[in-house]
Amino acid sequence: MNRSDSERIQSVLEEAGYTFVEDESQADILGLVACSVRQKAIDRVYSRIHKWNSWKSNRNLLTFASGCILPADRMKLLERFDLLFDIGEVGELPSMIREYGVTTPGSLRSFPNEGGDEAAPTAHWNIRPSYSSSFEAFVPIQNGCDKFCTFCAVPYTRGREVSRSSADIMAELETLVKAGYQSITLLGQNVNSYGRDRPHSELSFAGLLRAIGELGKQYENSFRLYFTSPHPRDMSTEVIETIAEFRCLARQIHLPLQSGDDEVLERMNRNYTYSDYFKIVEDIRRILPDATIFTDIIVGFSGETEAQFNNTHRAMQEIGFDMAYVAMYSPRPGARSADWPDDVAHEEKRRRLHALNDELNALGQKHTEARVGRTVPVLVESPDRKNLYFSGRSEGLLPVRIRGASAELIGKVVPVRITAARPLSIEGELVEGLPYGWAAAEQYDS
Ligand code: SF4
Repeated sequence: MNRSDSERIQSVLEEAGYTFVEDESQADILGLVACSVRQKAIDRVYSRIHKWNSWKSNRNLLTFASGCILPADRMKLLERFDLLFDIGEVGELPSMIREYGVTTPGSLRSFPNEGGDEAAPTAHWNIRPSYSSSFEAFVPIQNGCDKFCTFCAVPYTRGREVSRSSADIMAELETLVKAGYQSITLLGQNVNSYGRDRPHSELSFAGLLRAIGELGKQYENSFRLYFTSPHPRDMSTEVIETIAEFRCLARQIHLPLQSGDDEVLERMNRNYTYSDYFKIVEDIRRILPDATIFTDIIVGFSGETEAQFNNTHRAMQEIGFDMAYVAMYSPRPGARSADWPDDVAHEEKRRRLHALNDELNALGQKHTEARVGRTVPVLVESPDRKNLYFSGRSEGLLPVRIRGASAELIGKVVPVRITAARPLSIEGELVEGLPYGWAAAEQYDS
């Protein structure tokens, strides 16, 4: 979401005559899109603005911040940045810069979405973004969240769920597809509750996927469409069946589990049980047998006992995720659980995190070994750290190290024969003589 917001900020500034520079030491204006939902991210914001402010004694420099900012952080950032604005106000950024020193209504609100009853900002959706990649794009379809998980402050920083119009989404997608984009990701805090804020006038999430599937047919399935993140509570069989029906919809699903224990899930206010979640996984395995499944898990949540953690560990073993982003719980100001005891010792959280990551690696190795010998389509992304290799991603978003590729292939989908497996990634070599592109992949031997 932050990347998509940044692309719109860049676009507004370019329209106003500013030029993007890679080197921050050459810039006259420096800004960032913050995320104060994670402490580490907000710590980086403070360290960055400290550095920028130290440069001000030698040069003229204006700084700004926007994004997902908790009220407590907002007041502190106001003292450090020259401008602070809600992302919905981005269209006014050039005039704010002209009147430098003027704070915005959004920046002065002490608690912008207290109670979560205010709709998330949407005005920035009308701005054509300055895409940072020529082959991979991120398209916001929804902003805000109505779910109020107790560990999360997003409903208070972003506001209530608002869906972007499907006509606007489809117009942006068609522009990207015509321009040859290979990988497009729909963004939202809860993408699969898309349309629920306007049930009689807007498509459902499955309906939106179907419309994109039809667009894919018109353009020979030349792209792969991803989405992040769906909420298990709203994950319908219809969505999974729609993905199976249209080839441009990627066989990859990121479905945050958070915990495998029902009591912890209840305290997190997730509104599903592990058995509900497991039924969705069974549906995915049955309807989309080739799909990779990614997840997010929190260990050491307030009050999490050893037995409750063991239930999460068993869930990891039972499901066998292709990737899991495991995080140690840390309370965030503004979230409900911040008032609860953070009572799992740091060392114990660390032990639980390592136990899950070890399990993930062991199971991941089995998944990747099963792919050795197959030829699969891989989107080439950049030179690899390893000399003579390039990095890319499979349709299932597994990292792939490719031998035999070259810089001209960056942004293209090429056939790669898998030769080696690592726990969560694969390695292979470019196959000569086969056509390129997602559509051509049907001719590979996988
Ligand atoms: S669904 Fe939960 S974790 Fe996700 S943004 Fe909403 S409150 Fe946060």
